[in-house]
Amino acid sequence: MTEVTTFQAMGLSPERLAAIEALGWTDPTPIQRRAIPEATGGKDVVGIAQTGTGKTGAFMIPSLEKVEPGKGMQVLVLCPTRELAQQVAEDSRHLSRGTSLRIADVVGGVSYDQQIEALRGGWEVIAATPGRFNDHMERRNVDLSSLKVLVLDEADRMLDMGFRPQIEDVLRRSPQNRQTMLFSATMPNGVHALALRITKDPFWVEATPAGTVAELIEERVYTVKPGKKPDLLLHLLDEPGWDQVLVFTRTKSGADSVSGRLTVANVGTEVMHSDRRMQHRVRALDRFSTGSVRVLVATDVAQRGLDVEGISHVVNYDVPTDPEDYVHRIGRTGRAGSAGTAVTFVTAAELGYLRSIEHRLGRNLERVSLEEFDYAGESHAASGRDRPKHPRSPGGIGTRSAKDLSDEELQRLLGFSK
Ligand code: AMP
Repeated sequence: MTEVTTFQAMGLSPERLAAIEALGWTDPTPIQRRAIPEATGGKDVVGIAQTGTGKTGAFMIPSLEKVEPGKGMQVLVLCPTRELAQQVAEDSRHLSRGTSLRIADVVGGVSYDQQIEALRGGWEVIAATPGRFNDHMERRNVDLSSLKVLVLDEADRMLDMGFRPQIEDVLRRSPQNRQTMLFSATMPNGVHALALRITKDPFWVEATPAGTVAELIEERVYTVKPGKKPDLLLHLLDEPGWDQVLVFTRTKSGADSVSGRLTVANVGTEVMHSDRRMQHRVRALDRFSTGSVRVLVATDVAQRGLDVEGISHVVNYDVPTDPEDYVHRIGRTGRAGSAGTAVTFVTAAELGYLRSIEHRLGRNLERVSLEEFDYAGESHAASGRDRPKHPRSPGGIGTRSAKDLSDEELQRLLGFSK
């Protein structure tokens, strides 16, 4: 879906647009831009976002669009703390201004009476903490049969606080055909597995922190002939410091084929894509994050939410076709203050995608080629140009900067002449 940049272009109801305007929200935040159209269209959503990114609007605006007054509880948001549930209820009231929707928070530490009234009275939107909500379920105050949207907000914190049994109980009792959204500031394995299990083919969205690409990430682009990508990868894996490497391919078959090549070359590798069963994906991630294997090959879909510390290198084996994917892919390295390197293999056919990424980033990426890697083969001689000689860099990777060359010159140099 192409990204919409205004609330007006999201196809929201006039009341909602007026409510948003009354809040003074002139433009959607990045996570709202991406998630609202998808969720309004009925997609499940998994969002990685902290407070302050506008995540509440991202799940509440599409949820409220689905609610019909007088038809029972249709939206349930589970939150780890009383304060957060109250905040979500408060935001929902603002966002449903001008409608007759009834919104309640159901949290611990306050009297049951009003909550019973809201639950038994079929108030349309409930923001609750799992403990108190479960009390009400056990007291038979809750009817989940009309639930349309279930949101788990700050899922990581809810699991940390031991709310898994209560969450499972709600999941068991809510209708199968509901829409599910899960938001979490971090995505450790437990949350990732939960997200995969409770959502159907979800849209993954990550709120990229301001400044987007972390400054500690070094980015490089290798221009390469298509058939030479496996060799280039193996060559780079021989370089010192390539300790924990995440490789992205565009397709599932591409992921399988790269992982096969690496395995044959004796490089410990796991693969993760959506054709793999969940247990397999969880195990692959586990083996990668514990260092049992050095390389994880993944497709974009499979990597969403991956939260592994210590990834030294991200390799875009194929150039991502969506510039946002580039930002998210390379954000897997350089985490928690440690340095990381992101390299992108680009063939002549992929240069257009690379330009879109550079446009999105607002800067050009440095093109380099390996001195000692003969990836153009004999086509160099055919092009009639010699490669300029440069000393090896102290980092071990002998590179020469080709950033002063145009893409066309690079193509010619590498024998891609059209
Ligand atoms: P949240 O991340 O949902 O906790 O939201 C953080 C803060 O940003 C809240 O105070 C919201 O009211 C505010 N906010 C959310 N979306 C927007 C927006 N599109 N424009 C301006 N402020 C917003």
